[in-house]
Amino acid sequence: MSVTERLYYSDSHLIEFDARVVDVTDRVSGWTAIVLNRTAFYPTGGGQPSDTGTLNGARVVECMDDGEQGVLHVVQGAAPERGAIVHGRVDWSRRLDHMQQHTGQHILSQAFVTLFNAPTRSFRVLDSACEIDIELSNPTTEVIERAVQLANNVIWEDRAITIRNVTSEEAAELSLRKEPAREGELRLIEIEGFDLTPCGGTHAYRTGEVGMIAVRSWERAKGLTRIEFVAGTRALVDYRKANKSAREVAALFSSGRDDTPRVAAQMVEENKELNRRVRALEEIAAGVEAERLLATASNGVVVQIFDGRDAESLKKLAHALIEHPGTIALLGSRDKDTARLVFARSADAQGDMSLLMREACAMLDGRGGGKPDLAQGGGKNVAKLGDALAHTLTLLNRAS
Ligand SMILES: [Zn+2]
Repeated sequence: MSVTERLYYSDSHLIEFDARVVDVTDRVSGWTAIVLNRTAFYPTGGGQPSDTGTLNGARVVECMDDGEQGVLHVVQGAAPERGAIVHGRVDWSRRLDHMQQHTGQHILSQAFVTLFNAPTRSFRVLDSACEIDIELSNPTTEVIERAVQLANNVIWEDRAITIRNVTSEEAAELSLRKEPAREGELRLIEIEGFDLTPCGGTHAYRTGEVGMIAVRSWERAKGLTRIEFVAGTRALVDYRKANKSAREVAALFSSGRDDTPRVAAQMVEENKELNRRVRALEEIAAGVEAERLLATASNGVVVQIFDGRDAESLKKLAHALIEHPGTIALLGSRDKDTARLVFARSADAQGDMSLLMREACAMLDGRGGGKPDLAQGGGKNVAKLGDALAHTLTLLNRAS
């Protein structure tokens, strides 16, 4: 027999109780573990997080199941003494949330068994959602939504949920959803005409209390199907969030909330088409720009520094320039905090662009390279960009 009588076993809605302190242990930095002769606090276990609340006003931050040693209440602040009678109060909104998620899981798990003979292998209540891993082969959104629909129907039928304590012999005669994890007397949770399973958690009185179940997402994980779902209040919180996001996106498109997938898809297509047109126009613009630069170049050598042009844009211009015979392009750009360089020559011009590029990049505290007729590079020393190009021009003139 455990030293702590678990009041939550017989009444999941009991949140206030009186009890006697049977043990007090000091833990690290002002935390104390209290054992009571009876408690309504549910300790962490079975995928359900612990309750929180107060003991004589002191904060209970977590409860742990210590088996035969009872339930440990971890208290922050002034702790009661051994033998004292204390008044406990469980945080109801947290308990209700956990009951909705946990009872919701019983219903959803049985829905997958009923429809697809797919048992649940594990369950977790996370901060804002829950996860179950089920043995569902060939999962699809349509298949999963069928189980969710059945689960919600069971919720809205407001079926009674009752607790049955049976011996292991009696349990052996019953059709349980999952094998009991322990020997001896078993606590069975029965959802009227739908589900019967051994469980030590806290459950709603009736299925209606779960409110509703909604699936947020699903994925295949380690041979199982992992389903992320929300129940009860969490479903409403999640709906508000999703609705807010959808409406914000819709406002950007000046469209109705449910029209956004179509409008967004259309805009993505238009964007692709615009990009194609911009690239085509850039080719034309580079040709015109090349003509202009060549008109003022001496001996076919174009030396030019731009602001805010990326490497791709410099390369386009360089290509347009070297289409003209006897041309060498030495192009630089101050692109935010980076100096960029592209050197190119037409097939009939002289000079090793790759060699010149390495020299120039050394001056920019950067690196670069390429082929004898086309090279690119850059560096962080933007202030030296002018010097680097002047030096390159000197080297080029010396070689010719
Ligand atoms: Zn349960």
